[in-house]
Amino acid sequence: MIKRIIHKLLLSCQEATLLLELKGANQISVFQNIRLSLHLTICSICRIYKQKSYVINKYFEDKIHDEAIDNQATIERLKEKINRSLSANK
Ligand SMILES: [Zn+2]
Repeated sequence: MIKRIIHKLLLSCQEATLLLELKGANQISVFQNIRLSLHLTICSICRIYKQKSYVINKYFEDKIHDEAIDNQATIERLKEKINRSLSANK
């Protein structure tokens, strides 16, 4: 009962999950962060959501990082190929 009242007064789960996503992008204020932290202390569902969101975000960050490395390697190979072509035509 107390948890339900706190949910209503403090922050709904829908707002909390939105703030979790915004927090991941460093877009929440100190006040929003405090409200979110208080919500997370009483809401196990949102704590689970936070953990899953972190795992998903980490996966995509790693994937983007890996693709950036692949792109950089491709650019370096093309540079070498161009340089070899230029050297061969001298
Ligand atoms: Zn919640």
